[in-house]
Amino acid sequence: MSTNYESLNYMNFDSLLTDEELMIRQTVRDFVTEKIDPVLMESHRTETFPKQLIPEFGKMGLLGSTIKGYDCPGIGHVAYGVLMEELERGDSGIRSFCSVQGALVMYPIYAYGSEKQKEKYLPKLAKAEMIGCFGLTEPDAGSNPGGMTTRAEKVAGGYKLNGNKMWITNGCVSDVAIVWAKLDGRIRGFIVDKGTPGFTTSTMKGKFSLRVSVTSELHFQNCVVPEENMLPNADGLKAPLGCLTQARYGIAWGVLGAANHCYHTALNYAKQRVIFDKPLAGYQLAQAKLAKMVQEITKGQLLVLQAGRMKEKGELMPHHVSLCKMNNCKIALETARDARDMLGGNGIIDEYPVIRHMLNLETVNTYEGTEDIHRLVVGEAVTGIPAYR
Ligand SMILES: Cc1cc2nc3c(=O)[nH]c(=O)nc-3n(C[C@H](O)[C@H](O)[C@H](O)COP(=O)(O)OP(=O)(O)OC[C@H]3O[C@@H](n4cnc5c(N)ncnc54)[C@H](O)[C@@H]3O)c2cc1C
Repeated sequence: MSTNYESLNYMNFDSLLTDEELMIRQTVRDFVTEKIDPVLMESHRTETFPKQLIPEFGKMGLLGSTIKGYDCPGIGHVAYGVLMEELERGDSGIRSFCSVQGALVMYPIYAYGSEKQKEKYLPKLAKAEMIGCFGLTEPDAGSNPGGMTTRAEKVAGGYKLNGNKMWITNGCVSDVAIVWAKLDGRIRGFIVDKGTPGFTTSTMKGKFSLRVSVTSELHFQNCVVPEENMLPNADGLKAPLGCLTQARYGIAWGVLGAANHCYHTALNYAKQRVIFDKPLAGYQLAQAKLAKMVQEITKGQLLVLQAGRMKEKGELMPHHVSLCKMNNCKIALETARDARDMLGGNGIIDEYPVIRHMLNLETVNTYEGTEDIHRLVVGEAVTGIPAYR
């Protein structure tokens, strides 16, 4: 099935993608149109995640897509990027589900786990037979995860966890949580299975953003996890930050999907909407807004494509990813705000996707490091002087 939706191809961006990347993009695009688009309005209104889609994510190879082995697809990093873009053209909450599962749950097990942990969890997570979440943020430690107060203590046969995590995507619906806690002052990662005594979750309600996504708190009260559930190779803050770098790369691509969808909607609307006897698209002020969208989306596409090619060669560093995440979230949010404005009153109702994308992008601009935090990362990279404190 082909769709009416086309992503921006102003500078012939598509010519820079391989046949395989284009094919993956079209497959995910059709899946979003066929299966995701029809349920978004209801999911958004009722603040519920469309759980019936989860097995399809597994079948489509959308979870842990770049991991090689363990029943994962092992696709390239640019192919993964276009996949993320298409999912977020649907909704940032859908892309977040797949990002968290792949980059924040499967990646840490793959990168820092024992062989036994990889064999036990990765195939099930890839097929969506298991859902996972990533517990780093706490009520008093968001931008500064090193300030976490969740503690792990060595006890007979395992580790005892005490503390609370907040803003955790998929927390309440997860079978397994990757939890970061301080053991003797060092940040370590633990795999906590659902049902472990002392581990409970609660749902965070009332969000105006990312409503098609489950957001939760995780509570640990004398929760003892077995010794073999500690990630052996995750030692120090760089371990969770390594996972975030993976996820942020996907976000930098993903937000272009939301931006593209807003641009596409605004362009079509402006051509049809007659105001003072001529189409809105015929006014200079409207064209200036559309031209800005084309300009920024096109630059964003080229930025993440270069990041993807660097990642494929092992050259992409966290500070490069910060630039991509910071820039693309910002331009996507600005595009969504301008598109919303161009739709007038229709810009605030959910018959059009724009207000939903705009509200979602407020979260995406904040989570996984706020815009300002990434600005500080880039600032440190070019000056050599950290300015976080
Ligand atoms: C819907 C949603 C889902 C999320 N999912 C997850 C998840 O699955 N797992 C997880 O662990 N976390 C998750 N998060 C948490 C997210 O990563 C944090 O919200 C984010 O890191 C910001 O932390 P904070 O909310 O505590 O804001 P704060 O850190 O309190 O920041 C507040 C403001 O202070 C600014 N600021 C911070 N430090 C500085 C500084 N040094 N200089 C200048 N300004 C500064 C920030 O830029 C921001 O503007 C999620 C958040 C949301 C909203």
